Amino acid sequence: MITGKNFIGNKLSANGTDTHKTFNPKLNVENSCNFYAATINEVDEAVQLASQAFKEYRKISGKKRAEFLNAIADEILALGDDLVQTYMSESGLPEGRAMGERGRTIFQLQSFANLVENENWKQNTIDEAIPDRQPMPKDDLRKTSIPLGPVVVFAASNFPLAFSTAGGDTASALASGCPVIVKSHSMHSGTGELVASAIIKAAEKTGMPNGVFSNITGSGKIVGAALVRHPKVKAVGFTGSISGGRALFDIAAKRPEPIPVFAEMGSINPVIITENSIAKKSAEIASTYAGSITMGTGQFCTNPGLILTIDNENTNGFIKDLAEKATAIAPQCMLHPNIKRDFINNGASVSSQSGVNVVAVIEDEVEANFAPTQISTVSGTDFLINPKMHQEVFGPFSLVVRCKDEDELVEIIEGLEGQLTGTILAEKEDYANLSEIVDALQNRVGRIIFNGVPTGVEVCDSMTHGGPYPASSDSRFTAVGTGSIKRWVRPFSFQAFPKELLPQSLK
Ligand code: NAP
Repeated sequence: MITGKNFIGNKLSANGTDTHKTFNPKLNVENSCNFYAATINEVDEAVQLASQAFKEYRKISGKKRAEFLNAIADEILALGDDLVQTYMSESGLPEGRAMGERGRTIFQLQSFANLVENENWKQNTIDEAIPDRQPMPKDDLRKTSIPLGPVVVFAASNFPLAFSTAGGDTASALASGCPVIVKSHSMHSGTGELVASAIIKAAEKTGMPNGVFSNITGSGKIVGAALVRHPKVKAVGFTGSISGGRALFDIAAKRPEPIPVFAEMGSINPVIITENSIAKKSAEIASTYAGSITMGTGQFCTNPGLILTIDNENTNGFIKDLAEKATAIAPQCMLHPNIKRDFINNGASVSSQSGVNVVAVIEDEVEANFAPTQISTVSGTDFLINPKMHQEVFGPFSLVVRCKDEDELVEIIEGLEGQLTGTILAEKEDYANLSEIVDALQNRVGRIIFNGVPTGVEVCDSMTHGGPYPASSDSRFTAVGTGSIKRWVRPFSFQAFPKELLPQSLK
């Protein structure tokens, strides 16, 4: 049952008076439950508990932590249809997506459980002592990774399960030995509370210390900022807007003790299509990209918002075909009226820039909170001089740029802000001439996809989901895949330590 209360450790708590309701965008009505924003005292209580829990949790074996993560996965599944229905009523996303995202969440938890069952992920290294080295003896040095401390995770609006309460940030932080305090997303607080109840049950069943997990509701600017400012919080995970991620990053940097904020933010994910590709596969690419642009109502961080082509006799036909196919796909519901408002305003802002032509937009009245897909085009020269066209339009939108030649295309890539992904659609005969494009892209993105679509982010060891700012706040780390655990640990060395005092894995 959803109570609207916060989990401060394993206790439900609602001492505050500020409340909010979630919204069903499909029915265009508010959901009934009142959610109570945490007070500053409740925030403090959650962090103090987490800090206390850290003393024990950091020492719990990887095997026990794996049991905890697997138990969370089981408890999430045990929520059954309640979770699926709540997810749908708070996001407008369909049942298939709810099930798929739940499966991804379970898989992530199990992947981290497998990872920490042994200590390989810590990349322990040993340099043995050389007592008779000249001119100075060398001490024995052994390096491992240790957890940072309590982590605050901001749940994402666009993945109410997989990037939220028990999503990748929480799973990786818990796996590493860090307690987690989630700042629940206000758009899906009910889904968040249900998942939080599953985590608390799993913590109790597997004997984890109280405070290893808390779930806090309330405004980002008040409750979220208070969490990031709290001196006992040691790191932050975030997925959302550039303005939100940046605000939290700045708060963390201004603390007397600055802490890392791993924020995954905006990206327009450039797609480069060679002349040969358009000549050979125009219709196929248009169909595939119509699907990718509209998938999940375009509400993916890897949505292809920018398509770069070289202008020739085939380009107009391709753009027209892409626009017709994309707008032929029935409009779908967005997550929330505010996301729809931003989509319309940001799309209008790009489309009103000098030189931009709207090729196709769904003109018919769409239902409230449904998104009219839009494809626009502009010349490379106009795009180059106007950064307003480089902004993310979160939703089913793509801007096709017609470059005059490859030099202009490369100049555009070099001038882009940091991106999560770049995609190259090319034919065999292009391979010999792709190095400049690959080099330029590699400098701007975290992952290059070849002859595919950027939507769809595999959870595995080799995934990089991050990129130069503002795609993420620290391009050295990934937010998806088992490598994301590295965000929550620091290297630590034991020098000349007696063997009896070393941790088992370093002996
Ligand atoms: P958001 O506005 O950045 O909110 C994400 C979280 O950060 C929420 O918990 C929010 O709190 C908090 N927050 C926002 N601004 C803050 C601030 N100045 N100080 C402290 N906390 C703050 O993102 P969203 O709600 O997910 O969606 C809004 C827009 O973000 C979308 O329209 C889209 O443009 C973009 N977005 C991008 C991606 C991506 O992956 N590229 C993903 C999701 C969203 P509240 O509870 O108070 O809102």
